Amino acid sequence: MKKRYIFDLDGTLMRGDFKNFTDQYLLEQLGEEARPVVGHIHDYLSQYERTFPRYTDENLSRFLREQTGVPFTPELIREWDELVVELPNTLEEGVLETLEELKRRNRDIVVLTNWYTESQRKRLAKEGILPYFRAIYGGDLMTKPHKEAYWVAAAGCKPRECIFVGDNVDFDYVGPKSCGYDAVLYDKNDTHHKSIVKIKRMNEILDFK
Ligand SMILES: [Mg+2]
Repeated sequence: MKKRYIFDLDGTLMRGDFKNFTDQYLLEQLGEEARPVVGHIHDYLSQYERTFPRYTDENLSRFLREQTGVPFTPELIREWDELVVELPNTLEEGVLETLEELKRRNRDIVVLTNWYTESQRKRLAKEGILPYFRAIYGGDLMTKPHKEAYWVAAAGCKPRECIFVGDNVDFDYVGPKSCGYDAVLYDKNDTHHKSIVKIKRMNEILDFK
């Protein structure tokens, strides 16, 4: 039986309008010449997460400066992160019912996300779902796909008793599986290969034994 459910946040529990909000802010701060970089900012973040085990403003700004030539500063990262809290979000379909049912079953529910813990916590609170979660593990602690991130989020739970759920094949599926944990890909448009264990609707997670 699964006792501990470990959810990714962005693209899994909710979607934030990064494009019209934080990306727009970065463009205003960094100028028009930064447009190609800002257009791919999430690819740069993903590259950072694969390279470094945790987020710090200093390290992220240095990495972005070196990779792009755009003058990112720690202060800009801080303001960007504060703006993330203001993002308009949409909860994924079925999330609320699924969390409610898991709570009814007395399961441990936690979040493992790669962005800063405090702003992700505030976003969950803003959407009214923070009380469902026993803990929020963010990228300032450990970033996926580093093994320590999965170990920390599992918190000593036996591999067969916990399950990871997320929308990124490498970070939320391959990563936990390579540490011996069960994982399910949230793939609502059914775009990934059949060999991957996946769900199209969030409440399907309730059927996993
Ligand atoms: Mg995600």
